[in-house]
Amino acid sequence: MYANVVLDVPLAKAFDYHAPELTHADIGRRVLVPFGNKLRVGLVVGVSSQPEYASERIKALSAVLTDMPPLGEDLLQLFRFCSNYYQHPLGQVVFTALPGRLRDPKPFATRERWRYQLQSVQALIAQLPARAILQHRLASLLTEPRSEAEIRQISPGAWKIVREWLAAGWVTTVTEAPVSVSAEAGKPLNAEQQAAVAEIAAIRGFQPFLLFGITGSGKTEVYLEAIANVLRQGRQALVLVPEINLTPQLQSRFAGRFPGVNLVNLHSSVADAERAANWLQAARGEAAIVLGTRLSVFAPMPKLGIIVVDEEHDSSFKQQDGLRYSARDLAVWRAHQRQVPIVLGSATPSLESWYNAQNGRYRRLDLHQRAVAGAQPPNVRLISTKHVELQDGLHPFVWSELSERLSRREQVLVFVNRRGYSPVLFCGECGWMAACTQCTARMTVHLSERRLRCHYCGADSAIPRACPGCGNADLHPLGHGTQRLEAALSSRFPHARVLRVDRDTTRQKGSFESALDAVHGGKVDILVGTQMLAKGHDFPRLSLVVVVNADAGLYSADYRAAERLYAQLVQVSGRAGRAQISGDVLVQTDFAEHPLYAALVAQDFPAFADFQLADRRVAGFPPFRHQAVLRAEAAKLEIAMQFLQEATALAPDVSGVTIYDPVPASLTRLAGMERAHILIQSASRPALQNLLTTWQTSLRDIKTRQLRWALDVDPQEF
Ligand code: ADP
Ligand code: ZN
Ligand code: ZN
Repeated sequence: MYANVVLDVPLAKAFDYHAPELTHADIGRRVLVPFGNKLRVGLVVGVSSQPEYASERIKALSAVLTDMPPLGEDLLQLFRFCSNYYQHPLGQVVFTALPGRLRDPKPFATRERWRYQLQSVQALIAQLPARAILQHRLASLLTEPRSEAEIRQISPGAWKIVREWLAAGWVTTVTEAPVSVSAEAGKPLNAEQQAAVAEIAAIRGFQPFLLFGITGSGKTEVYLEAIANVLRQGRQALVLVPEINLTPQLQSRFAGRFPGVNLVNLHSSVADAERAANWLQAARGEAAIVLGTRLSVFAPMPKLGIIVVDEEHDSSFKQQDGLRYSARDLAVWRAHQRQVPIVLGSATPSLESWYNAQNGRYRRLDLHQRAVAGAQPPNVRLISTKHVELQDGLHPFVWSELSERLSRREQVLVFVNRRGYSPVLFCGECGWMAACTQCTARMTVHLSERRLRCHYCGADSAIPRACPGCGNADLHPLGHGTQRLEAALSSRFPHARVLRVDRDTTRQKGSFESALDAVHGGKVDILVGTQMLAKGHDFPRLSLVVVVNADAGLYSADYRAAERLYAQLVQVSGRAGRAQISGDVLVQTDFAEHPLYAALVAQDFPAFADFQLADRRVAGFPPFRHQAVLRAEAAKLEIAMQFLQEATALAPDVSGVTIYDPVPASLTRLAGMERAHILIQSASRPALQNLLTTWQTSLRDIKTRQLRWALDVDPQEF
């Protein structure tokens, strides 16, 4: 027999190894194989009697690792799909999905939990020699599931025999009986929540649900109830969340609701060994609930009964390097494969999901009210800064509101939108913005080279000296100049305790948590923060949120910027007035008449989604077109651009697919590397996939020195 093995190497193919003792039951097992001059861990993806290559060159397999049950065919299919769809070598998909500790050649020792049982007792006994007394004793022992310890008690040689039977397929591993389901009674659900739970419970088989509910409407209670139903049937639930920071909160809610139920965490901050152990518990069907970030979408779950994706719109479900997969999209694929329902929850669904709900592929479940009696949605107001002299970046009215809240000893949050939006050149006098003449996108400012570039089609021009609309010589990128805000707040309110929370101030492990504690403990008066603060955290004493610099997202060159901005503003608004205090949100803007803000003030996401989708349809952007990006990075921009030129020349001609010109990325320099890309776009997904598959093979033949490239399917950023 020959084992077809994939390895963690950037090669598309699988490798053959001579393995006489393997059977089809070993497909999905980890093995040790010689590769180059060392032993590596591989995964068996096939077993056959014929090797693909001439057999005399084939090496022998070194060992079969039995520290985990073989991965199921469903997972192997998921890997294959992922490899094809995201244009990534199968071996590297597999080794992205496996927890780090299981990529290691050292066997992983866990607490012994499996039991072993004979498949067909009579057939085995029939072929045992009558004198093989030990074998006969074992055979009768293993009519019931037994642990390794029980087997070893019989005789020193017993375990070896069971291992052989295991390899030959006589014996199977059985998981321990799942822990009993003890669900505490949940909160009495309101009518909308009940209706949502009932619709989900009625589904046998695949059905995606879009649970669209405003912040605080009780989406989590719906998840819990839907999951309780699944656990009662003895099945497992997979819950994906966007951020590690959010899992402790959610986990304690789950633990409170399901005491004694085995809930495991699979996010990246769980230590290696523990993560591998948790993964194995999922694989053995012992973990009733798996809660984790995007990588958990690959968790083996033999008894999967439901998938939940919380905050489904969040862009962190998309991995931005290596295997560039979308965990949300894979979760939907997996739910379909396993024929189980999937619930995608959000207050601001992604436009892709919204569109899928409109065209009937997803079923929408709406929650309109805040669940807690008496809790009111925040009151959002726009503060127009047009033709107003700002003081240190803030409107005089905002300053007076701030000092009033502080004198009432309430907390305030100043939210600075500092996301890496592609900046647009803007005239404050007449409102002119630099647009691309070749396509429908806006031009991005590259200040250092004084160029304007279109990140979609590659058009390139010099930054004009004056506004082409009105002649104003003071042109600048939208939304600059918020850096000094923190200092200004401290100097105006010298007695207030100001805390800044962003990526820079929370680099150290635990610092984000201690910041949150400080806020909860009432040790902070003014919070200054970026999007990190926007998500999911309750600040009971917070009565006012001030949003600064939102306009940069309004007119970014990135067509997804408005969608992200809206989601972020809704989320940050949800921080205000969650408990007894009613909350106010003040949004400073130069564009108070913009429809995005109108929808925000009216709390009307459907209106926002509809006009965004209409725009996207006209402009030919997703979800009406499908995209991929070929990215290249090198120490010098010319090298990256040259590679992309060569790549363009090699691109196969597939009708209905457009390949645009190479263009430097908006953040051209990152970590010492210069980056550029090509956009590929099509109305037909099969046509796009077709092109990528062929193209990829020829790209691998281009001689590249000191250059890295990658295909990014369904890119989130440019
Ligand atoms: P979401 O996930 O939509 O933001 P949550 O599920 O976190 O909303 O609910 C918001 C708050 O409302 C929580 O404090 C939750 O305990 C409470 N809640 C949810 N459903 C109900 C209900 N049916 N009755 C009373 N309180 C509820
Ligand atoms: Zn102008
Ligand atoms: Zn263009």
